[in-house]
Amino acid sequence: MFKKWRLWGSCLLLIALIAGAVAWTQSRPSHVQTAPATTNHVAQSSRHTDATTTLAEKPWTKLKQPLKLPILMYHSISTGNQLRVPLQQFDQEMTYLKRHHYRTLTTAEAIRALTTNTVPQKKVVWVTLDDAYRDNLKILPVLRKNRQHVTINAITGFTTKSNHLSLAAMRRMRDTGRVDFASHTVRHLDLTTLSAKQQRAELDDSKTWLDTTFDQDTRLLCYPAGRNNETTRRLAKQTGYTLALTTQEGVAELSQGRYSLKRLRIAPKMSLAAFASVVNVKNR
Ligand SMILES: [Zn+2]
Repeated sequence: MFKKWRLWGSCLLLIALIAGAVAWTQSRPSHVQTAPATTNHVAQSSRHTDATTTLAEKPWTKLKQPLKLPILMYHSISTGNQLRVPLQQFDQEMTYLKRHHYRTLTTAEAIRALTTNTVPQKKVVWVTLDDAYRDNLKILPVLRKNRQHVTINAITGFTTKSNHLSLAAMRRMRDTGRVDFASHTVRHLDLTTLSAKQQRAELDDSKTWLDTTFDQDTRLLCYPAGRNNETTRRLAKQTGYTLALTTQEGVAELSQGRYSLKRLRIAPKMSLAAFASVVNVKNR
């Protein structure tokens, strides 16, 4: 009889231990707040801290698989050739992203996402426009309306050309908080045809100009026409860039190399269905 009670006692102790272990596991603070209604005050206090510090800075989610980031490539917002996307099409595409809950990353956010393999939300996209054409000013109402962000890769020696953004226009765009500027070099030359010294000047001088003009640390380089070689990539790193973009077609992944990231060209007359399939990248 006594033996039987001792056996029962052992079983109950074991159950209590398992229940305790489960409760302890669930009580640990986690950025994914999926704890059940019995959440203890540890999880609740971390939620309280999140709410009181900054609403914009929710913890980012770590991905199990390497991040696949769609980096869209636009140029001029107008009509006439394969590099020009009409404003109406751009508007439709940005509105599609908005309606389907894509977050349009800033350069700083894209760098963080790719280098730490984390995302601020499930769907992310990075919208880039090359060359800083003057017609890019037309996208401001679209960005304001949708509360979206784009990165413009500027040719820093072209700001006095009539079809490019002037310094004043760039400042105006940047001050909206909806646009940031990265380097597309000084003169938009094919870097692979230049000496190492000339390449260095293109990378260095454009970075210094952007750093000074916008009081920033310019960490993104976009190769003119996507052209780069081993020297370019080495110099990009030495000059202080964290990432560099090519024109090679594809979804960006860090495994391509920080200085060889692929992009997705958005062509004029692309259907919205085709656009939707291009940006539809699943991350786990
Ligand atoms: Zn270009």
